[in-house]
Amino acid sequence: MSGLRSWSVAQRQSFSSGSAEKPMPGNSMLGHLTSKIKATGPISVAEYMREVLTNPVMGYYVQNDMLGPDGDFITSPEISQIFGELLGIWCLSEWMGAGKPSRFQLVEFGPGRGSLANDILRVFSQLRGALGGAAVSVHLVEVSPKLSQVQAQCLTGDQSQVSASEDEPVYRQGTTTTGLPISWYRNLDDVPRGFSIYLAHEFFDALPIHKFQGTEKGWREVMVDIDPDEPGKLRLVIVPAPTLASTQLIQADEKRRHVEVCPEGGVIVQLLANRIAEDGGAALIADYGHDGTKTDTFRGFKGHKLHDVLASPGSADLTADVDYSYLRRMAGATVACMGPVSQKDFLKNMGIDTRLQVLLRNCADPSTRAQLIQGYDMLTNPLKMGERFQFFTMLNHSLPKKGPAPLPVAGFSELGLS
Ligand code: SAH
Repeated sequence: MSGLRSWSVAQRQSFSSGSAEKPMPGNSMLGHLTSKIKATGPISVAEYMREVLTNPVMGYYVQNDMLGPDGDFITSPEISQIFGELLGIWCLSEWMGAGKPSRFQLVEFGPGRGSLANDILRVFSQLRGALGGAAVSVHLVEVSPKLSQVQAQCLTGDQSQVSASEDEPVYRQGTTTTGLPISWYRNLDDVPRGFSIYLAHEFFDALPIHKFQGTEKGWREVMVDIDPDEPGKLRLVIVPAPTLASTQLIQADEKRRHVEVCPEGGVIVQLLANRIAEDGGAALIADYGHDGTKTDTFRGFKGHKLHDVLASPGSADLTADVDYSYLRRMAGATVACMGPVSQKDFLKNMGIDTRLQVLLRNCADPSTRAQLIQGYDMLTNPLKMGERFQFFTMLNHSLPKKGPAPLPVAGFSELGLS
């Protein structure tokens, strides 16, 4: 286990309230997976992850509200309001840099409990003057009906309705508490085209990965099989023959001996790159990540502790670090990519120190002050979330072109709003 992973356990544990074990939907999921493997042989780690996380009936995300102190993990927007506020400023800055288009879509992938969008929309509302008459709308890509309900409650109060039919591409619609139209979709394909700022925070790490091991005979895929010694248990195996994935997904010049590839993430990035190139806009991806250097990062979290990825599937979160070198390759040349930069650098460039001082100046309550300072430390401290989380952006090539020199991109260099 790497030091970073040990850190993650310690930090995530510090948010644990010692809650009791939750009921485990894992048994029926285990049954479902073992029948599948019995019928067709070992399944890829990607198929395992997809089933465990997003199976429409039993999937972890479909069943649970897993975020926060009583859940399985906690995320930056849940830790401090400053995180979402600074991302709100980032969105506005990119919209301004693009020449303030009259239509402005905010699109978020996997919005969790809606906290990030809520903090961003508060900034939009406070800076309504800067937005002028732009027609702003909010679009959420969310696979979980349960979480979409939590998001709707947070962002609209009770001002949202579910669609009459389950097959509608827009499965929920409403008006935010700040008065903007808001819609929910299962897929990016269903989100309307047009100038958009796309946000994905701790979304790509939840997408299914394939795992590969370099062997004397070449690359082989690591798959999930039934343990022959304990038929109620699963185990990882290296399959003897090449698979389609092992022949297609590894780069010819790959130096690592173990590689994880997330083709679903690659497809989403390609779609985003096409949209941004054609319609204008930008995407900001923030996640645990690396630039093509890490190997085995697949892990499970339950109750803020590391959890065996194969034990009681469906009862714990599964995640793998995002490989930004892969995303950059998949984005291609039609957009400009920047990053990854560390969360600490991104937030400092966005002015987190000044924002903290303003909030502290206006706050007399000692416990709220302590919370603000603790949240700041958690987000920026290199030993906590400051280095481990990375920010990456894709921009329309024609974006930063105002004036004689290109405009710096907010967060990726020091912020200069004109
Ligand atoms: N962005 C939030 C939540 C992160 S958890 C935060 O930072 O707090 C991951 C989120 O992505 C959840 O909302 C989950 O339901 C959603 N999700 C996971 N896989 C998805 C998929 N394939 N399509 C759409 N949403 C997905």
